[in-house]
Amino acid sequence: MTAPHLSREQLKALVRTIPDFPHPGIQFRDITTLIGHHQGMAASVHHLAQLADSAGAHKIAGMEARGFIFGAAVAVQLGIGFVPVRKPGKLPMQTIGIDYALEYGSDRLEIDPGAIEPGQRIVMVDDLIATGGTALASAELLRRAGAVIEHALFVIDLPDLGGAARLREAGIDVCTLMEFEGD
Ligand code: AMP
Repeated sequence: MTAPHLSREQLKALVRTIPDFPHPGIQFRDITTLIGHHQGMAASVHHLAQLADSAGAHKIAGMEARGFIFGAAVAVQLGIGFVPVRKPGKLPMQTIGIDYALEYGSDRLEIDPGAIEPGQRIVMVDDLIATGGTALASAELLRRAGAVIEHALFVIDLPDLGGAARLREAGIDVCTLMEFEGD
């Protein structure tokens, strides 16, 4: 399959911004329009897969739910396995989990510890990094299961919210396909 020719600027133009969703003042960066465009989806996955390949990924981990869309496609493109990082109560086996703080309240993520062999290099993939709370909790959980987490990939970075900087402080290299100013 030939690589789709869409520049990062063209990909950025495919992301729709919806003001005041889900709360007043939030600019929601909606990837529905990007994934609904066949070249946009293919080019995004192609760029992410190149980055994951360079990072030496043994497996891809994707965060529920939009991380599943990009992460699973990257795993298929590279011919490697995919680990879903799930919201609580979804996985049928004995899980390990982590609670983490949100702006209001807390949330929890769970994985199947049997999905990871100790020392496996797992590259995390999600649609967007904002504060980095979700990605940091995922990295901590995957590390507890024995994974080596040194790389995380996102389609969209909101640099003003500082998440990428927080991940780098935790020893995780961050690559993104595009940035949006503000939150
Ligand atoms: P965070 O844990 O703060 O880095 O938030 C990351 C998660 O929240 C991502 O999985 C996104 O899907 C979602 N998210 C946060 N802010 C936005 C936004 N402005 N637009 C779209 N999704 C967002």
